[in-house]
Amino acid sequence: MNGKVFLVGSGPGGLGLLTLRARQVIDQADVILYDQLPGEEILATLPERAEKIDCGKYGGKHTLEQDAIESLMVARAREGKRVVRLKGGDPFLFGRGGEEMEVLREQGIPVELVSGVTSALAVPGAVGIPLTHRKYASQVTILTGHEEPGKAESGLDWENLARNPGTLVILMGVRNIPDITRSLVAHGKSPETPVAIIERGLRPDQRVTTGTLQTIAGISRERKVRPPAIIVIGDVVRLYREDDPGLVPL
Ligand code: SAH
Repeated sequence: MNGKVFLVGSGPGGLGLLTLRARQVIDQADVILYDQLPGEEILATLPERAEKIDCGKYGGKHTLEQDAIESLMVARAREGKRVVRLKGGDPFLFGRGGEEMEVLREQGIPVELVSGVTSALAVPGAVGIPLTHRKYASQVTILTGHEEPGKAESGLDWENLARNPGTLVILMGVRNIPDITRSLVAHGKSPETPVAIIERGLRPDQRVTTGTLQTIAGISRERKVRPPAIIVIGDVVRLYREDDPGLVPL
């Protein structure tokens, strides 16, 4: 009997944005390797009968290293099991889904991608910030804020990002907000550019913090902004209304 691995995206949090295919493969899984990002509401519905393995990060420390996660997926699939690797948002957007697919392919294990609704789109949307708008932005760039600007081996071109006329959406950027905003301004982006940070989007304790490239680092320090959060930079942030806290009911 041949096992299979499903790389499954949970969406940004909450059962409402979990896809029907995700629900189906989760409910039929023999083994589920899950991260914490899918959130409590979804994790509470993992089937009783499946072997459930927590691969989450706690205080910056992984319970299981990436190699161990990959080896475990391969081993269980070789036992003929239906293995679900459950990740927040979409597995192929900053979720290491691509890397895991490569390993599984190399090992000859069948893989199915179950796309998820990515937080990069859904979280700004949920607070009334469309990423494009005919008046404000005709392009969107999604990037990781995990890499410190200025780092020699950085895969990001900050000069180019500063010149980019569209919306910037930054994931995993909370820790580097001061460096990111400084770097964009240093490369010529207007310090008045509006910025919104959405923490725990689409969760009951969602919170939005707004400012400009110049002010947001200070404001987010004062408000103790914490991950997971999405940073949106650009004129589309002007569409955010504080008195209209959500387009999607929580
Ligand atoms: N694959 C995921 C992203 C994984 S990287 C996706 O497609 O959504 C982890 C980052 O995603 C976090 O640091 C944060 O920037 C973002 N993120 C995921 N879910 C979020 C949520 N509900 N609210 C705010 N940010 C979220």
